[in-house]
Amino acid sequence: MAPPDLPATPTLTVAHSGIPERLLQKATLAKSLIYNGKTVSDTATLQRGLPIPQGISKPAFLSAIDELRNLLGAKHVLLNDKEIKNGWYMESPNTHDMMPLFDSEEFIASAVVYPGSVDDVKIIVKWANKHLIPLFPISIGRNLGYGGSAPRVRGSVTIDLGRRMNRILDINADDFTCLVEPGVTFYALHEELVKRGLDDKMWIDTPDLGGGSVIGNTLDRGVGYTPYGDHWACHSGLEVVLPSVGEKGDVSVLRTGMGALGVGGENTWQCFPYGFGPYNDGIFSQSNFGIVTKMGMTLMPNPGGFESFMYTFANESDLAPLIEIIRPLRISNILENVAQLRHGLQTLSVKGHPRTKYFAGTGPMPDDVVRKHLRTTATGECAWVYYGMSYGPAHIRGHKLDIIDKEFHRIPGCKRIDPSTLPADEYFWSRDRIASGTPDLEELKWVNWMPNGSHIAFSPVSPIRGKDADNLFALARKRHAEAGIDLMPAFCVGLREMHLIVEIVFDAEDEEMKRKAEECLRGMIDDAAKLGYGEYRTHLALMDQVAGTYSWNDSALMKFNNTLKDAIDPNGILAPGRCGIWPERYRNRGWELKGGETSTEGEGVAPVGGQSKM
Ligand code: ADP
Repeated sequence: MAPPDLPATPTLTVAHSGIPERLLQKATLAKSLIYNGKTVSDTATLQRGLPIPQGISKPAFLSAIDELRNLLGAKHVLLNDKEIKNGWYMESPNTHDMMPLFDSEEFIASAVVYPGSVDDVKIIVKWANKHLIPLFPISIGRNLGYGGSAPRVRGSVTIDLGRRMNRILDINADDFTCLVEPGVTFYALHEELVKRGLDDKMWIDTPDLGGGSVIGNTLDRGVGYTPYGDHWACHSGLEVVLPSVGEKGDVSVLRTGMGALGVGGENTWQCFPYGFGPYNDGIFSQSNFGIVTKMGMTLMPNPGGFESFMYTFANESDLAPLIEIIRPLRISNILENVAQLRHGLQTLSVKGHPRTKYFAGTGPMPDDVVRKHLRTTATGECAWVYYGMSYGPAHIRGHKLDIIDKEFHRIPGCKRIDPSTLPADEYFWSRDRIASGTPDLEELKWVNWMPNGSHIAFSPVSPIRGKDADNLFALARKRHAEAGIDLMPAFCVGLREMHLIVEIVFDAEDEEMKRKAEECLRGMIDDAAKLGYGEYRTHLALMDQVAGTYSWNDSALMKFNNTLKDAIDPNGILAPGRCGIWPERYRNRGWELKGGETSTEGEGVAPVGGQSKM
């Protein structure tokens, strides 16, 4: 039973990060399921007190915080010195990783600051350089599975950009583009299209859950499920505050692409991403080189019709031949969207029940048990489920769907599930909404698989080849079996590559399970690297290891990143360690996490940067 006194989830009318009214009922149910699974209090008193960043004394830090309060207004600077609250997806904390692999007080902020403008961000950068205090920018902070809102360096000051900088600055219904600030979520952007009566004309591309910000998700190179699924590829134009302070005490703000044009840059900023000269946008994604305050994004025209489809495949060994069938269909756009091929176990777990409902034993749930329970579901007994969508008017869809049907049926035992047989609450319809541009709140239900359900992802990319799918599935299978963890893989197929997303669901209160989850993740990263596979994105705890696998030619890429970091951020104040990029002041001081550590901190920081402190 749900605890009786759970407060209602804030809606978009009261909070920038709220839930759309249309999803409130769903949020209430999701929230009660999650709170049912919590075995400990949602709040915890900080055992180690205020987390002060290394390199500054407590009195100096507190006096710097007072200075920041004077600069921005006391109510916009909050110290994190009392207790932390985990909450849930829709009411997630901006202070720490609510799904911690380490102790909750490791990846944690000392304070949160809420800028209201680009000028405020510049003031914060100047302040951080003066006091050598690490900053960590977030847009919404719902990057769950990859560290959420947490900073990499303990005691960093989090810049929560989303709370006060959350305007949709432009929706251009002629060009099908928009310009947004960090606090605009996929939910909010979609609701705005509805409000303006434009949702019939243009779609957004949304991830599985719509509560993340368009900017945060895109900067971390997240994906969605329409034909516009690669968010980074679909953005056009950034505005960035740089992390250093010039000789005259100035902080630079730049615009990329056409936004750099001296006069009238706004005219084509969202239409042409490159501008003139080097294409710099890339250095601001998955990095720590700048604070993004605006971003342009393309919107997709309504294709004039759409139709979801679902196929099941009987055997795990169907994976490789199926991927071989998918590749040419995907590259030639017969399969049009970033579709998902999911393991049958996820079809069970996404129903939102605890694993104990299906199986009382320990170790990975045996295949025959998974299959037995799948028999009672809409997909029936199977190993894999393919969720896809066809776009355009009926006669065009019909042509493509016929080809897909014929090709998929080359796998013996392949079944097409007729959507008209599926009840309205079947997960299939959530995929249907997402692939047609309507953000939903269904996906997080598999977190309930474990008590105090938390998740962390292993996310390697590979070509769309049967052999690669088999290799990745086999190594994940082996490591999960060793760790005694259920394996829930999903292949998300892009145009020339596929992301394998393996979400490990763990009990955040079970230290042994957390240790095994870490071992499993680190083992998979190493195994994959030996076979030539790299992760496209990762959790804070794993960034050093993943960055270390991109080591071609004596780690030339990391050396280049370090050169950029030292030039752009000489005092090393911005998100030190993010994506494995450490500023000079932190380098070679034991900050890297490679496995087995119990603390996330290194042996101090150099007192001043590569260049002098201002
Ligand atoms: P979401 O908005 O999807 O909830 P986050 O706000 O958690 O995502 O952002 C994901 C990651 O991207 C953050 O951990 C942070 O490192 C980086 N990031 C997010 N927003 C910005 C920004 N405006 N400028 C620079 N980096 C950002």
